[in-house]
Amino acid sequence: MQLPEHISSAQWQRFKAAADKLQPPFLLTDLGIIREKYLELQQGFDYASIFYAVKANPDDAVIELLAGLGSNFDIASTYELDKVLKFGVEPHRISYGNTIKKRSDIAYFHKHGIDLFATDSEADLRNIAEFAPGARIYIRILTEGSEGADWPLSRKFGCNPEMAIELAALAKELGLEPYGISFHVGSQQRDIDVWDGAIAKVKVVFERLLAEHDIQLKMINMGGGFPANYIQKTNEFHTYCEAITRFLQEDFAEEDVPRIILEPGRSLVGDAGVIVSEVVLVSRKSSTALERWVYTDVGKFSGLIETLDEAIKYPVYAERDGEEEEVILAGPTCDSMDIMYENHKYTLPLSLDIGDRLYWFSTGAYTTSYSSVEFNGFPPLKQYIV
Ligand SMILES: *Cc1c(COP(=O)(O)O)cnc(C)c1O
Repeated sequence: MQLPEHISSAQWQRFKAAADKLQPPFLLTDLGIIREKYLELQQGFDYASIFYAVKANPDDAVIELLAGLGSNFDIASTYELDKVLKFGVEPHRISYGNTIKKRSDIAYFHKHGIDLFATDSEADLRNIAEFAPGARIYIRILTEGSEGADWPLSRKFGCNPEMAIELAALAKELGLEPYGISFHVGSQQRDIDVWDGAIAKVKVVFERLLAEHDIQLKMINMGGGFPANYIQKTNEFHTYCEAITRFLQEDFAEEDVPRIILEPGRSLVGDAGVIVSEVVLVSRKSSTALERWVYTDVGKFSGLIETLDEAIKYPVYAERDGEEEEVILAGPTCDSMDIMYENHKYTLPLSLDIGDRLYWFSTGAYTTSYSSVEFNGFPPLKQYIV
């Protein structure tokens, strides 16, 4: 088979040397690639602060690497907070980005010196005022156009801009600092124009708060959404940087472009990982069936949950040549939803056999962190670092 375009043969050789010594299934993550991606992002947005979204890959080695590179961290729970603090990350480099939080968790963050909180509702805002008095808050707004995102993050989070204005005014009354506005255009966002619409909404909120409430916001948190290399093509990364920077400049005069925060997850760690699996069984459902079922030792419950509705289409590779035919790819568990790809026709070599290794490229994001604990007794997906 052909390696995916974005994998150089040198990269593949280096990767294979490590993978061949290990027993599947596992995720092999290359810290060198995460480093490259981080530096690329930093160069492309040299005016922005990067807050790594820890949920994408919460491995200690990943956190340690990014902490060393000077990254800040977007944290969703006290568990993630403990992990990041362990590496000596100072509280001013941490934001509590989850809009859904217990009071006791707000108090925990406050106790550890974190003073930057996301919110999108009055009840949460009042909790922050009570349990993290004086904190800076940023309000998450709903954005349209999450259609271009392969893994949308809309609907559940954010409020409409009108409400954001009310919340900012209330924050001031409650002794909090209304600091900024955030949005997330949806993960693996392939339509760059969506940022344009989101930034335009933010601008209106900025202007109205200044005019109507004498509140000058200082920050825009543009969330994540930058892509990894899956089967569906995306623009080059520099195209994202150039377009988004232009959108900002069009809406905010150079002297008053606010502080910009980015919260990348997928784009930093996705391409750095490869899941190595083994073919458990190859079968057909009748003697005349045209498709083979290929069952592997990884599936929806061991890291591939983003194949729900076939949303994320990872490049899959086997070290076999020759004629290929369509397959249905499924996992090893006793749950019939444990099928990764059925509608999108993956093809694999006819010579593919039990025991062969299958490589799932760009699986460094949202795999280990989503893997189940012991469904059917299968242990969580292991991760090794190179
Ligand atoms: C998940 C998440 C991110 C990361 O998004 P990616 O698309 O993976 O870069 C950033 N910010 C928030 C608030 C998130 O929930």
